[in-house]
Amino acid sequence: MTRRFSLEDLILTANLIDGRWLSAADGARFAVIDPGTGNTIAEVADSGPADAHAATDAAARALPAWRDTLPKERAAILDRWHDLIVAHEEVLGELISLEQGKPLAEGRGEVAYGASYVTWFADEGRRIYGDIIPAQQRGKRMSAVKEPIGIVAAITPWNFPLAMIARKIAPALAAGCTVVGKPAEDTPLTALALALLAQEAGVPAGVLNLITASRERGIAAVADWLEDSRVRKITFTGSTAVGKYLARESAATLKKLSLELGGNAPFLVFDDADIDAAVSGLLASKFRNGGQTCVCPNRVYVQAGVYDAFSRKLADKVGALRVGPATDPSSQIGPMINTRAVDKIARHVDDAVAKGARVLTGGTRLPECGAHYFAPTVLANATDDMQLCCEETFGPVVPLFRFDSEEDALRAANDTPFGLAAYFYSQDVRRTDRVSRALEAGIVGINEGAISSEAAPFGGVKESGYGREGSRYGLDDYLSIKYLCQGGLE
Ligand code: NAD
Repeated sequence: MTRRFSLEDLILTANLIDGRWLSAADGARFAVIDPGTGNTIAEVADSGPADAHAATDAAARALPAWRDTLPKERAAILDRWHDLIVAHEEVLGELISLEQGKPLAEGRGEVAYGASYVTWFADEGRRIYGDIIPAQQRGKRMSAVKEPIGIVAAITPWNFPLAMIARKIAPALAAGCTVVGKPAEDTPLTALALALLAQEAGVPAGVLNLITASRERGIAAVADWLEDSRVRKITFTGSTAVGKYLARESAATLKKLSLELGGNAPFLVFDDADIDAAVSGLLASKFRNGGQTCVCPNRVYVQAGVYDAFSRKLADKVGALRVGPATDPSSQIGPMINTRAVDKIARHVDDAVAKGARVLTGGTRLPECGAHYFAPTVLANATDDMQLCCEETFGPVVPLFRFDSEEDALRAANDTPFGLAAYFYSQDVRRTDRVSRALEAGIVGINEGAISSEAAPFGGVKESGYGREGSRYGLDDYLSIKYLCQGGLE
């Protein structure tokens, strides 16, 4: 029978190392803050290099036996983990809302989304095929087999505290790798809860190890993994600056890297678009998690013929979004994650207004709700000299840029070092084909704002990183190919 854990049971404060829940080696702790109220939810282990090293030691000890399990044995454990996550959708959703600030319905949605990767990779792990290479010489047999890459270090951001770590741990375990991981300092609790459920599902001691840490101590802890030649892969989701640092610092031991980094997604609305569909698609993609999503449209380009109608309809809908505590079921937009985040949003809006943007709705902080709230905002007359054009705002702000020709729109859309997601709305099939080919992005939404799926390859091009999560390609990042050449068979 599935054991049921309450929210209190799932709020854990220790590291999981070698199957044991341990305080940081030096006993240090840091506070996890509810972004809606500023209250402390719990104090968790503030780990350093010694804890990171102990986690790697455990992962190294567990690797030989885990690597040798049958894929279907690993799948059975992952399936049990999936079922436990789904069975705890309500409480995990609450925990996500509490520590991250996304509305409850979205918290629950994230649980289902994260769980979908677990079951997906349980199945994909059964299909790690190799190749028999057609003979090139008599007496020789050549084949290619795929093997787990070894110990994987997973480092994740705060904006999807469950889904981001689940979609790294699941393929790693399915491939036969062992894992050391560190969730973001803002949202460590969901990851620890997930680890407890993994333990309950039968993941053996040392196969999954998680440590938590504050920002500075976490950097030192991760540095231990970067230097350790036993760690063969880093899988990271977060900002481009940190991704580049990890690539540089892991070069000495030449680790394989998957980097899911920042975006600056364009969203194009052509004159021939279905305007209502474009407004709905933009609302769905932009305001998920209050705009704190790497695939959120950051720049919205609207063709001159529909600019006024689109802006009006959009501003009406955005102005009606309900802002409030994440744990209030009627809230559609919760608090931003922390002071740094809300300050950046305010800076972008102030800069845009100073350079000529017009506020159609919102535009201000909402101190009456709390220190981290910002009003859903639409800005008209955005231009490319504004900060929000070249940096991810990561908040509920839609800047509207006007364009005349398809060529101009594509030039502007691609004029960024980033290339994660892009979206466009058009009902012309020829344009649909042209624009989807021309956009420099790893993911393109065509008349669609909701693009994420465990069955699809998620990842970027350019400075948005490399590697893919989900889909049948998602396991490749955790495998290496071994070529076997057998002679003397004549
Ligand atoms: P961040 O890069 O600041 O932090 C991400 C993680 O890295 C955290 O766990 C943090 O503690 C850790 N970290 C930070 N500096 C480090 C260092 N020097 N060494 C080792 N670890 C370090 O990012 P964030 O603010 O938490 O997340 C937001 C960013 O993540 C945005 O840029 C967003 O676009 C991106 N993101 C990308 C995807 C994707 O799939 N491409 C998904 C979600 C978020």
